[in-house]
Amino acid sequence: MIGFKGNHQTELTYERARKALAESLADKGISDVRILEAILKTPRHLFVDGAFASRAYEDMSLPIGYKQTISQPYIVAKMTEILIKGNILEKKPLETILEIGTGCGYQTAILSRFCRKVFSIERIKPLADRAIVNLEKAGIKNFLIRWSDGTMGWPIHKKFDAITCAAAITEIPSKLKAQLNIGGKLICPCGNDKSQNLVLLERVSKEEYKETIIESALFVPMLPGIIKN
Ligand code: SAH
Repeated sequence: MIGFKGNHQTELTYERARKALAESLADKGISDVRILEAILKTPRHLFVDGAFASRAYEDMSLPIGYKQTISQPYIVAKMTEILIKGNILEKKPLETILEIGTGCGYQTAILSRFCRKVFSIERIKPLADRAIVNLEKAGIKNFLIRWSDGTMGWPIHKKFDAITCAAAITEIPSKLKAQLNIGGKLICPCGNDKSQNLVLLERVSKEEYKETIIESALFVPMLPGIIKN
């Protein structure tokens, strides 16, 4: 249906769909208005394959190729809400965020609103390339995407205020924990393909981390190594 409308009409349709999505996320417990605004302003239809554009604003994950999915908006909203919690007044509450699992770049786009720069790692090269194109189409500039294995952390020595993983692993990689600033938060789905929990790790001091289980989750697995095509 959308294909038969003019551009302006299509944009209005997407805008209405985004509003409905933001309202449904609020109903599901997302209460930070900054997150709801980010959902309202981020064109998710630019991040999914054309065939799925009309479903881009349903609160569900969708295939993006290479056996991967764009995450469900609720979970993107939830994870980001936790990362920025406590920094109420600031416009860009965080300096740097590291994302493991860029996929199509949608969560990178959401995260880019809350920090000076998002660093994102994707192990599948065609997805990393496409995410760059998608983010540019959406007019986002404060990101850096690397094609590498995220379990190894950001390749050069660097620390982040927040780290978020879009793929599940049984145990949070020590290299990621080490790249978290003291006072920073890391959020990662932990478990296997049958049972996972979203885990929040806060770095209390150089050696100490506080772990909190947020809720159950279902993510694609975090896998080692890189894929060229
Ligand atoms: N953030 C995306 C979600 C993508 S799905 C969104 O906004 O919807 C998770 C992604 O993690 C997949 O693209 C997968 O290839 C990637 N991934 C899995 N293991 C990885 C690893 N070790 N390093 C980097 N990326 C990884």
